[in-house]
Amino acid sequence: MKIGFIGLGNMGAPMAANLAAAGHAVTGFDPAAPCPEGVTEAASVSEAARDAEVVLTMLPNGEILRAVVAEAIPAMSPGAVLCDCSTVDVESARTVAGDAQAVGLLALDAPVSGGVGGALAGTLTFMVGGPEAGFATVAPLFEVMGQKAVHCGGAGAGQSAKICNNMILGATMIVTCEAFALADKLGLDRQKMFDVVSTSSGQSWSMTSYCPAPGVGPQSPADNGYAPGFAAELMLKDLRLAQDAAAMVDADTPLGRAAAELYATFVEAEDGRGRDFSAMLPRFEGRGRT
Ligand code: NAD
Repeated sequence: MKIGFIGLGNMGAPMAANLAAAGHAVTGFDPAAPCPEGVTEAASVSEAARDAEVVLTMLPNGEILRAVVAEAIPAMSPGAVLCDCSTVDVESARTVAGDAQAVGLLALDAPVSGGVGGALAGTLTFMVGGPEAGFATVAPLFEVMGQKAVHCGGAGAGQSAKICNNMILGATMIVTCEAFALADKLGLDRQKMFDVVSTSSGQSWSMTSYCPAPGVGPQSPADNGYAPGFAAELMLKDLRLAQDAAAMVDADTPLGRAAAELYATFVEAEDGRGRDFSAMLPRFEGRGRT
């Protein structure tokens, strides 16, 4: 397939490289990052998008996505698919989908879970919103870059699924960390805490697959000095997107809001930036009730 790939950062570069290694003709553009091996470098967004059957984007935020899409759309041919894999606000996802549709393109929002490790290994999960025909076209590419793609519904459904998932994750990680810190103060051994909770009704992915306590449970960033993993500032980004979406549709999300506020404090006023999002545990360890 002839693919344009725009945004070759930490995630985009390995995704583009995997597509090229699978035999696709990939033309890439990024104003700052180098082109990975096997990908032909373009001099602009429109050059990367021209004549592509699928244009993939992997960009930092909705504002940049809107600007890139405005440049890509005139270069694309009717029937081609514009597939954004970035994590952006639901409103931007719906706006760019509407703009693309208006000129006969198919648009998908397809944010991912799995991080840089998943991008390198080709084991990402894609959550996809947009028309069935677009999903069918891009499905073989999702298979190269990932292990699972779920078609969630119409435009914006992929971003909606992503932020709801990460709102659950952020709140669950916080409460798992505060429970470990409480257990410490109650004199409960961390391994016993894990043994009980991981097989009881308090269990979650944060406990069983990504345990924030070093030396307990499976290998996780806690065992590596809380080097990310999934950085606290990326969790903050997703929690803010969830709050933006909640405001847009007037949804009451008290725990999501509290999680966003706590990660904002951790990242912007404390030492959370650049640390894994599970480093909430050492944060709570050092604190009392006020
Ligand atoms: P990154 O900052 O490493 O990469 C973004 C790239 O976009 C940069 O190389 C930048 O130069 C490029 N870019 C900026 N403006 C551009 C433009 N006008 N045209 C072309 N390229 C442009 O970020 P990343 O870690 O690769 O993340 C990309 C997206 O994936 C984000 O939306 C992020 O939230 C999401 N995501 C990241 C992770 C992760 O673990 N890193 C996990 C899941 C989702």
